[in-house]
Amino acid sequence: MHRMFVPGPVDVADEVLQAQAAPMLPHRSKEFEAIYRRASEKAQQLFLTQYRVFLTASSGTGLQEAAIRNFVDKKVLSCVNGAFADRWHEVAASNGKETEKLAFEWDQPVAPERVADAVKRGGFEAVTVVHNETSTGLVNPVKEIAAAVRAAAPETLVLVDAVSSLSGAKIEMDAWGLDMVLTSSQKCLALPPGLALGAVSDRAMEKAAKVQNKGWYFDLVRMEKHRLKDSSPATPAMSLIYALDKQLDRILAEGLEARFARHSAMAKRVQDWAEAHDLNMYAPAGFRSQTVTTIKNERGWEVSALNKFLLERGMRIANGYGALKNITFRIAHMGETQMADIEALLEAMEEYLKQG
Ligand SMILES: *Cc1c(COP(=O)(O)O)cnc(C)c1O
Repeated sequence: MHRMFVPGPVDVADEVLQAQAAPMLPHRSKEFEAIYRRASEKAQQLFLTQYRVFLTASSGTGLQEAAIRNFVDKKVLSCVNGAFADRWHEVAASNGKETEKLAFEWDQPVAPERVADAVKRGGFEAVTVVHNETSTGLVNPVKEIAAAVRAAAPETLVLVDAVSSLSGAKIEMDAWGLDMVLTSSQKCLALPPGLALGAVSDRAMEKAAKVQNKGWYFDLVRMEKHRLKDSSPATPAMSLIYALDKQLDRILAEGLEARFARHSAMAKRVQDWAEAHDLNMYAPAGFRSQTVTTIKNERGWEVSALNKFLLERGMRIANGYGALKNITFRIAHMGETQMADIEALLEAMEEYLKQG
């Protein structure tokens, strides 16, 4: 039974939790290097990439910062239509980069033609975009955005935050021409928090080799030298890598297409339920997330009281994020959550509504 209908951290399978209990090894040992290599290779399949996948001992925000420090010397375009995109923009600004914010209404997707117009003006080394905005439950058309950028300014790198969607929705890194795709362990991957995964294209690595002041810890050029020897410059988050190795086996055994279809079916079930209660989704049709549904609280339900009721039954949903608190609430359906779990949640919510 899964009970965390919040967009991370989510429930972790018992066998994955237990994988963390394996004994420590010297990190520069053949035994650990073999685990590191096989986890990285399996991870490539999730990103649908032939390129490298870095594993860092950080949450996803660490890789947002790594992306800025490695791929941007001076100037970046930040596409912003939600809280996490806004954070990435702040990360760029706080690293001293010149960053232009291309802002959209939060209930509207990033428009590829506006991104193209902006990059045509020149000088942008990279564009940042969030694939699945966890605050709004909106999916940006990353494939179309990447194509628009390639056509308008071929040298500009496309950097994508897929923290709450990778492995729950199909993101074809290579086919779409993405230069970096990053994610965290505690969301769709259904692992404990503390690990981030980032896939990086060759041309992005070439750019990184030319960028100054990358810092030390997140210098991807340094990491790449070690990665080629199945290692990392500093001590890796070993227990989390044991868990990743196990969880990737489970994900690949389910099958990626089956996993995407499961997420899509759960999203549809939750959307249909909301509509049956005359509630609208925050994101417009065609741009709704497969992993988290943000519902407009148009009937003025008291989200904290609802959650208290759910908690007594061992479940929890999420309130709206930041400025969307109480105006919206969110039901996450990601990771190992199954349709039966969603049915149990919706049943409990019905029970709450009946008692008035
Ligand atoms: C959760 C989240 C982040 C932040 O990730 P951390 O792992 O908490 O650092 C960034 N982007 C998106 C889209 C998220 O959902």
